[in-house]
Amino acid sequence: MRTVIQAFLDGGCKNAQEFPAIYQQSVNLINGGAVFMIRGDEDLLVATDGLGFCGENMGGWLLCPLNHENAQRLRVLFPFTAPSRVLGEKRSLGLGDRLGIATPGHIRAFRQYDAYPVFAQQSMRELVFTERTYEEVLDCATFAVFRENFRRPFGADGDHLKNDRDIEYALNCGFTMITLDCSEHIRNDAATMSADEVEAAYVPNAALEEKYLGKSFKVGNYTVSFDSDTFKRACLIYNDAVAFAAKIYHKYFDGKNAKADLEISIDETSDTTTPAQHFFFADRLNAMGVKPCTLAPRFCGEFQKAVDYIGDVGEFEKELAVHVAIAEHFGYKISVHSGSDKFSIYNIIGKQTKGHFHLKTAGTSWLEAMSVIADKDPALYREIYAFAISVLPDAKMHYHISTDLTKLPEIDTMKDEELSHMLEGNEARQLLHITFGYILSEKDSNGEYLFRNRLYADWFAYADEYAQRLEKHIGKHLAMLYLGFDE
Ligand SMILES: [Zn+2]
Repeated sequence: MRTVIQAFLDGGCKNAQEFPAIYQQSVNLINGGAVFMIRGDEDLLVATDGLGFCGENMGGWLLCPLNHENAQRLRVLFPFTAPSRVLGEKRSLGLGDRLGIATPGHIRAFRQYDAYPVFAQQSMRELVFTERTYEEVLDCATFAVFRENFRRPFGADGDHLKNDRDIEYALNCGFTMITLDCSEHIRNDAATMSADEVEAAYVPNAALEEKYLGKSFKVGNYTVSFDSDTFKRACLIYNDAVAFAAKIYHKYFDGKNAKADLEISIDETSDTTTPAQHFFFADRLNAMGVKPCTLAPRFCGEFQKAVDYIGDVGEFEKELAVHVAIAEHFGYKISVHSGSDKFSIYNIIGKQTKGHFHLKTAGTSWLEAMSVIADKDPALYREIYAFAISVLPDAKMHYHISTDLTKLPEIDTMKDEELSHMLEGNEARQLLHITFGYILSEKDSNGEYLFRNRLYADWFAYADEYAQRLEKHIGKHLAMLYLGFDE
């Protein structure tokens, strides 16, 4: 490795293509020096001494590990490697990279589309499951963006955060958007109360009654009406959530001191957000001066992880049209969560939003990583598959899935070359999706990771294969979304 670097440096950094170990696109000349990345036993940054990086000195050059200190320095020297506020742009996609290795493939998928990517996107639950920190999540995106020389703005999303502490943590790390999860302040039981129960639970509020009770509102081509039950139910479900969102907004996202964009999510609830409820929530926020960039309602039908949309596509389109009209009325974009692999509705989302949307995907990149293992390391895949089945009952307590897992493919009778095909079926997809945290964190009796290190070694060895699969898979999402609008 040293001789490779030396020969490259002796040639004035102009002949990267002669050295396969050098990431060709990463070579950047700056302040009379150079910074680039190489692939050895691991990826490393190489930088002229004196540029402020830390690493092992090699005759005036530093071999730098991909750590937090060096990522911070990279973001200062090369601002395109730092995240930006992109949520206010026309269209954006949250990718999420739970493993810290997916961004090069995501970048390839985005090269030919103008949507703004949010490469770093992680919820607290995902951080815990993957044993990572927000610093690591962002640093991985920074190094990947530098390595691939991706010079368009990208975002970083502190996803589904529920309290001040977590929001401050993400903001202090430099995240450029926060998804505020209001679910703990939404009263779920009110959605299914009988009319009498609603009547009994409702606390009279003269000001709100004056504004909504028995009133209708024109929103684009639609009219939203509040009869007594609709109004009182909406109060019960959303009043606390409105107060919570307003408090958070005015503390962190109001005015020119805001460091990040705000998405408000009310999607993690037991019942669908009706258009009237969406209007009520949005109108109340508006009255309190809350201006989110995006809002995620819970749409009709089911958005289960890693499988296509479950529900009536026609009904979804009808309701989406009203949700979009409400969003336009209040000046934000609609956000669609659990948006990976929903191939039957991308066209509709693109069309009804006229290309103005935020869509989040996350787990699907993990499944692509597992399909690499199925093809390249079938023995390891078989071990993991058996393990996933053993922890399934526990995992099902954290995720709602309806796939019949008794129909899981029988792996013992499958040939190695058939293994990756099982990931085209819903059963295996959902099994491996909801057990990802268990697979990554399981340890043996000596306290060593059971699978994690072997998985990462494979993913590093087959990095290009993984990037190709992601380019194809995420590219398919983008292609179908773009079919729905022309701009
Ligand atoms: Zn969500």
